[in-house]
Amino acid sequence: MIAAIIDGKAFAGALRERIGAAVPAFVASTGRKPGLAVVLVGEDPASQVYVRSKGKSTVEAGMASIEHRLDDSASQAELLALVDQLNRDPGVDGILVQLPLPKHIDEASVIAAIDPDKDVDGFHVVNAGRLAVGAEGFVPCTPLGCLMLLKDRLGDLAGLDAVVIGRSNIVGKPMAQLLIQQSCTVTVAHSRTKNLPDVVRRADIVVAAVGRPEMIRGDWIKPGAVVIDVGINRVPGAEPGKTRLVGDVAYAEAAEVAGAITPVPGGVGPMTIAVLLRNTLVAAHRREGLADPVGL
Ligand code: NDP
Repeated sequence: MIAAIIDGKAFAGALRERIGAAVPAFVASTGRKPGLAVVLVGEDPASQVYVRSKGKSTVEAGMASIEHRLDDSASQAELLALVDQLNRDPGVDGILVQLPLPKHIDEASVIAAIDPDKDVDGFHVVNAGRLAVGAEGFVPCTPLGCLMLLKDRLGDLAGLDAVVIGRSNIVGKPMAQLLIQQSCTVTVAHSRTKNLPDVVRRADIVVAAVGRPEMIRGDWIKPGAVVIDVGINRVPGAEPGKTRLVGDVAYAEAAEVAGAITPVPGGVGPMTIAVLLRNTLVAAHRREGLADPVGL
């Protein structure tokens, strides 16, 4: 079997078009654009790239992008004061504090300070709790993007065996919650899991969020399974001094067995920003007392 390639880039592009198409109706009924505030502390090069690309995508979707850059030496009190200001700003619907933060700042305290109804990253404990009990809230962007790709591929997920490898608060745990909500039978694997290959072999759906290059091998995959590879790992390339990106799944091997698989890059990666825009638009509607936009 040669797996179908799940084109996350195309899916994310179509989602962004639907978001952009829904913005004018919001502007017409409220007289303002939905606004996403992104806060960057320090000079981390990868974070700078992410923040720039989030800002560009926000503007492309017709929304307002509000960027705040604080110096590496900014204190926790300064950052908390900025979060408080954004919480109270009526033109700000979503607040994203780019992680990681410098070592002297306690990330948990900063995330806890964000108004849960503006927490478009879905990292606040209130939103984690809402997800766990099935209440309306905000779900972290990467796992929600994975779920969208799975539903697009498989339709109804009820009764399927799903294995999530990784139990981080950002990916693995919310992914497992989402799959439980879809009535999958969910196993969450991690570094202490015994016989991981056998655990993965049971799965109709495999979500890999480990951060280890090509750890999941082709002969771990049940024939026909759908494989979602969240991993983004930089490894040495073919030419000296060059690097390339690989996922957590050995793609070439797995593609011979799986029914469908996300490539890296071009699979899950592009979904994250698209879902961030989606969450921002949804936050804007909820804050204005409007019904959630349909089809997002
Ligand atoms: P974390 O490092 O927070 O979590 C990794 C998880 O993998 C942990 O639960 C860990 O287990 C588990 N793990 C580590 N080694 C093994 C092993 N040998 N066998 C089984 N499980 C193992 O990572 P994240 O969840 O933040 O990210 C995972 C990957 O996804 C990374 O490659 C990251 O770059 C990528 N990512 C991609 C995004 C995107 O596409 N936009 C967004 C976010 C992340 P334990 O808990 O026991 O330590």
